Amino acid sequence: MAEQADVVIAGARCAGAATAATLARAGRRVIAVDPVRFPATTVSTHLLFAGGVAELARVGALERVAKIGAPRLSRAFIGGPGHAADGAYNPVDGIDYGLCVRRAPLDQALVETACEAGAEIRQGHRVTALIWENGRAAGVRVRDQSAPGHDGREYEIRASLVVGADGRRSTVARLAGAEHPRIAHANGRACYYAYYDDPHPEWRSTAAMWLTGRELGNAFPCDDGLTLVLLMPPVERAADFRGNLEPEFDRTVGLVPGLAERLGGCARQTRIVSSAEHPSYFRRSAGPGWALAGDAGHFKDPVTAQGIRDAVRFGRLLGESVAGVLDDPVALDRATLAWERTRDAQCVHTYHWTNLLGRGDGLAHVQFELLRALTEGPDGVRRVLDVYSRIRDPRETLALPGLLKATARALRGGSGRRAAIARASGEALAELAGHRAEARRLLTGRP
Ligand SMILES: Cc1cc2nc3c(=O)[nH]c(=O)nc-3n(C[C@H](O)[C@H](O)[C@H](O)COP(=O)(O)OP(=O)(O)OC[C@H]3O[C@@H](n4cnc5c(N)ncnc54)[C@H](O)[C@@H]3O)c2cc1C
Repeated sequence: MAEQADVVIAGARCAGAATAATLARAGRRVIAVDPVRFPATTVSTHLLFAGGVAELARVGALERVAKIGAPRLSRAFIGGPGHAADGAYNPVDGIDYGLCVRRAPLDQALVETACEAGAEIRQGHRVTALIWENGRAAGVRVRDQSAPGHDGREYEIRASLVVGADGRRSTVARLAGAEHPRIAHANGRACYYAYYDDPHPEWRSTAAMWLTGRELGNAFPCDDGLTLVLLMPPVERAADFRGNLEPEFDRTVGLVPGLAERLGGCARQTRIVSSAEHPSYFRRSAGPGWALAGDAGHFKDPVTAQGIRDAVRFGRLLGESVAGVLDDPVALDRATLAWERTRDAQCVHTYHWTNLLGRGDGLAHVQFELLRALTEGPDGVRRVLDVYSRIRDPRETLALPGLLKATARALRGGSGRRAAIARASGEALAELAGHRAEARRLLTGRP
């Protein structure tokens, strides 16, 4: 006998827990399954700008997350050779600070929020197949691998809607035939991160980023008195880190003098985590009886730290869109399609902005000049933070005159690198011109 639910969700972290909490609060029977046993970490840093913290509040998780004890990051700092700018947030729903909470406690808080709302979260259970009926997804097959030395017992859950919130390597996307993205971009930077102790109270309220040459380094104070140090070298430098992780990590910190100075007196407390390949994409994310939430449907380069915010936001919005129409398949499919369009419309310009900031080639020099110009004035950092908080359109910061000026400044200061800067800048300008067509293609679904 198959079990029956209104909605079954594969994955119970940011997107899955947010969808589950929203639907359960609306009185729907929701089961989310995840092979993981929480609390458990995952390969992801975890900076949230004020707009991301506001999403935690909207889904009802902020009170729990606040108890974890990460400092409020009420200021942001952007630095590099000859430049240092620091500023505060414009509030989003009254929230004027960012947060950086390690994924194990953050995801645990989201899971608890969903459980408290009435959702059932099955830990140690994995979706292995979709059940199809008359061309619609009608449920899932699940393997129970929760018991030690489990026997791999499989069972079925039938539901009006199957949600894949199962991350970048989504099983549901593959089984629904949506694995191949509609738009994709390779990452231009790799990620290496570790946690340091932090004897610098004067920095504990500030998320800081330094761009020096093509190297990008970040220090984000987080929970348990630690600071997350994230290095994002150009992706081709992944070869330098391979088999040489710790020495290359330490050497790279030294290539970013502002970060090295920030870390004076701090010691690394954990192993280094790496991610050299994390391409960005939009997948088709809605079909008959199924939808893909979070990274399963759409992923942006970590360089602008938007993934958790979007997974929670669009998980919640998916739940809100479908809660009232689960008993009507036609209305349900219309609702998931409209939800996908909303997500794409709200994410596509941020996606392109992120891809340009994620380039680690000669464009890095232009990015620095652009950030310098944007953050020079008294309210410059605040305006840039508005973009990261998603209350200002990123296209405002990528306007053609500003980009051309930044390119001219980068060329003036970039002796020996001028050819690379000019080539990358030309490509970026062409990419910008192509964005409009690409956004239209994504939003209309036409080739
Ligand atoms: C290196 C790196 C750094 C990042 N840094 C940031 C940052 O600073 N800030 C930020 O906002 N975002 C960041 N992101 C993005 C962020 O990690 C993701 O956007 C976010 O985790 C998406 O949440 P999700 O719930 O969609 O997916 P995930 O967090 O990937 O969760 C998916 C869940 O699905 C489960 N699952 C997988 N297969 C199955 C299955 N078959 N059945 C059931 N469950 C399954 C997994 O066990 C997992 O628990 C970063 C990403 C990377 C790679």
